[in-house]
Amino acid sequence: MKPRQVAAFSGDSKTIRVVGHRGARGILPENSIVGFDFALSIGVELLEFDVLLTADDVPVITHNHEFHGSGVRGPDGAFLNGERPRVSSLRMEEVVRFDIGRLDGTTDYGRRFPDQAQMDGVRVPRLSELLRLVSQPKYEHACLMLELKSDPDFAQDSAVRERIVSVICRDVCEAKLADRTLLHSFDWALLAECRRQAPDMPVSFLTQLQESEDDVGEDSAILVTPDLDRPDISVPDEVSRAGGSLWCPYFSELTADDLARARELGLCVAVWTVNEPEDIDAMIDLGVDAIVTDYPGRVQRRLSDRGYRWTR
Ligand code: MG
Repeated sequence: MKPRQVAAFSGDSKTIRVVGHRGARGILPENSIVGFDFALSIGVELLEFDVLLTADDVPVITHNHEFHGSGVRGPDGAFLNGERPRVSSLRMEEVVRFDIGRLDGTTDYGRRFPDQAQMDGVRVPRLSELLRLVSQPKYEHACLMLELKSDPDFAQDSAVRERIVSVICRDVCEAKLADRTLLHSFDWALLAECRRQAPDMPVSFLTQLQESEDDVGEDSAILVTPDLDRPDISVPDEVSRAGGSLWCPYFSELTADDLARARELGLCVAVWTVNEPEDIDAMIDLGVDAIVTDYPGRVQRRLSDRGYRWTR
């Protein structure tokens, strides 16, 4: 039998799961409690988010290793101008002085999400805040795709890796959510460490073979992912060999053959990040297990119109 959280990400002939990417980045501040709560409140039970450690080893939910001016304002209320504070150099008490409630529409990144609400007083959450949110009885079906971010500067440092995994897993276990959490990463060495420290928690392998223009304004993952862009390599076989329960390819790189192979290997396949209606339709046609999206309501709507469910 599949572990509970893997079953929650698995589809069937009439079910495709919807995963709220960073909550609901298309319409609410990314990686924010307000965004996560919104996604859960519309019946999207699966959340993807990114976790980094502060200087004082607090797991926080934010995507980039440095705060960028495109979506972060300082204590003076102005978007960061040139300065890029590094999360791993800030203590938690400093992290919460920044406001992540708005996007700067003059930046490339800000222009990507013209529908995102503009809010004030939104803080980078601790991982523990999200764990508390999903621990409420009304969200008992929620499951988490917890992305561990590795710092490319320390990707070779096994002590750093051990610390990241142990601190994050401790929070998840203390919240008693180990059976509702997938450990997810582009960094296969980090996932190997997850297997070592938390063998009961399923792992989810992200892949991206080529840099995508869709990701402008964000940290790239290419540096920490093994080179899988070779004709002699079957990515699903590599994921399976590495102990993966899920494979998460960039959606436009998934072929029908690889999807079929993943199924033979018993892998659940969740594609990221699918936002445009024609791409959503293509993924429904392909028959993936789950769609990771910045617009969970939009994917619900396509599924609903086409007679699919996203929960059982
Ligand atoms: Mg992520």
